Amino acid sequence: MKDDGGTMSLPREFQFSQSSLQDFETCPRRFKLRYLDKLRWPAIESEPVQEAELLARLGADFHRLVHQHLVGVDVDTLTATLESADADLQNWWHNYLTHRPADLSDAQIYPELPLSTPLRNYRLFARFDTLAVGADGSFLIIDWKTSRRKPPRAALERRMQTRVYPFVLAAAGTAFNRGRSIDPATIKMVYWYPQFPDEPEVFEHSTKLRQRDEQFLSELIERIKHSAGQNDFPLVEDSKPCKYCVYRSLCDRGHQAGSLETLDEDLEEALDVSALDWDPIAEIQF
Ligand code: SF4
Repeated sequence: MKDDGGTMSLPREFQFSQSSLQDFETCPRRFKLRYLDKLRWPAIESEPVQEAELLARLGADFHRLVHQHLVGVDVDTLTATLESADADLQNWWHNYLTHRPADLSDAQIYPELPLSTPLRNYRLFARFDTLAVGADGSFLIIDWKTSRRKPPRAALERRMQTRVYPFVLAAAGTAFNRGRSIDPATIKMVYWYPQFPDEPEVFEHSTKLRQRDEQFLSELIERIKHSAGQNDFPLVEDSKPCKYCVYRSLCDRGHQAGSLETLDEDLEEALDVSALDWDPIAEIQF
């Protein structure tokens, strides 16, 4: 939002999310174009387009299947809908049925759960694919990841999502703990890949991590507020993420989209999350 002096400020009602914070960390200019200027999709994100669209559709279909299963639709009914489905989707569904997290069986399940908490006078928002609240008082945040490649654990650990989701649950989840505040040590987050059902990546939370993340997220929001006040959103120095960014023509960072084939998996957390991580697209379709 611009004021009369040409500077910008964050709208009071601005809501941060792991995606917007990740975008700022990857490239401040991308944050500005997407969330302040609200520019949408001036270029395709990756090549080949058909392959990217197929991955997006499969991701959406998988999320829908899991969601329907978790709200009580029986397995046979759901499996019958897959008779002529893509082989990848059938395989993912089979892997989900045979390998899904054991914690789901006796837990209270909340699929597609939105939660938010105030932080530095703004709201920090998260939407969990699934929250499983165990009878023993444990909390498991599950994120279903349908990408064909699995980033290294260190890259997942650095992801903004790995910090934001447990933080938001610890801060805003009292309703799921009989009105009492949640001990961060009872929270775990898992990235679960139907393509790699034997390799879930689990991250345990703790009081120490909560303090670390609160400081980190607060400082990041302050940096964004400062950038907005100065209208200072520089282009990322290393142009690698630009290949997969929809704004590259606006930034004069090339016209050719990057290839899905040559995507360096170690870079995933630095790339255009909303373009390459199809799960948020899947969420929108519910
Ligand atoms: S093209 Fe590059 S510099 Fe421009 S917004 Fe995207 S990542 Fe940032």
